[in-house]
Amino acid sequence: MAYRITLIPGDGIGPEVVTATQDVVSAAGVAVDWEVHHAGIEVAKLTGSPLPLPVIDAVRKNRVALKGPVTTPIGGGFRSVNVTLRQTLDLYANVRPIRSLPNVEPRFDVDMVIVRENTEGLYAGLELMILPGVAQSIKLTTERSSTRIAEFAFRYAKQHGRSKVTIVHKANIMKLSDGLALDCARRVAVRHPEVHLGEMIVDAAAMTMVRDPNKLGVLVTENLYGDILSDLGAGLVGGLGIVPGANIGDEAAVFEAVHGSAPDIAGKGYANPTALVQSAVMMLRHLGEHEAGDRIERALTEVYRSGQVRTRDLGGTASTGDFTRALCAAIERPRAEA
Ligand code: NAD
Repeated sequence: MAYRITLIPGDGIGPEVVTATQDVVSAAGVAVDWEVHHAGIEVAKLTGSPLPLPVIDAVRKNRVALKGPVTTPIGGGFRSVNVTLRQTLDLYANVRPIRSLPNVEPRFDVDMVIVRENTEGLYAGLELMILPGVAQSIKLTTERSSTRIAEFAFRYAKQHGRSKVTIVHKANIMKLSDGLALDCARRVAVRHPEVHLGEMIVDAAAMTMVRDPNKLGVLVTENLYGDILSDLGAGLVGGLGIVPGANIGDEAAVFEAVHGSAPDIAGKGYANPTALVQSAVMMLRHLGEHEAGDRIERALTEVYRSGQVRTRDLGGTASTGDFTRALCAAIERPRAEA
């Protein structure tokens, strides 16, 4: 029976990498009935909302979605569709594995995971002009969210055979908000004595990610630090074309790349679909389709190892279509041949 999965193509390079990813999932032999829903600026022009209610309802109903990036206007305009979707559906854990692929510069051997609190912090949307010329953003930190994200990180570490969780904070300066998050994480850590606990201030964590990323293991942190450190992590493994992500809640999960809509290359046909393909691998494993996920991952490794087909972000000349065809062929090749 086919899985029914909500598909949000997004905008910019979204539809290009989404189509590629659908082909890859199909090559892996997983039958999916994609329920397509649109969000973003074009939808806002038609309906008045960039994230109409039927999109949210569809994710809630199907419980799983694959999503392309959606552009957010800067310094005004509508609120981020991405943030709104995560908050509305309470997709509280943003999981971003940072893992090197063969033959991709810079050649560090990185294998770490960022678990980012996805619903509050400075993304709570609590901003106001308190006086002319004085703006205020409120960083919201609650005991409930800080505890559940830490609990998620420790459980994730155990389920994925990782021995260390590092809590990243700035509690030396934000003694109340980051202090609360740190206290909660320490309390959670006591319940998981088999996982080694690390603590690091966010600026030191940024430096450590560059010099010795694997030392951090599973890094758990609040919303903004997690967002910034994810892009730093992408830089360590070849760029934003590589790094996948999952937004997980108790009711639903939305899988999307770390990267945005890349307006500078949109419509040109050379976006790298790897990040969304790897997000789809996370989605397949979430659905229990481990064999298909493993097949795609093996084929990706194979294509990168061969070094013959690579997209422009990684110094090659392949189009999105060339890369996708090579990947699908590697997935479909019998294993002995691959
Ligand atoms: P971006 O990630 O879109 O692009 C940054 C750089 O990385 C660009 O040079 C781009 O060409 C390159 N890049 C990104 N993905 C790539 C890929 N798959 N293949 C090859 N090159 C790739 O970041 P930005 O330019 O800061 O943001 C553009 C828009 O995307 C903004 O409106 C932002 O709000 C939005 N955004 C959305 C999401 C999301 O939907 N989850 C995430 C981040 C940013």
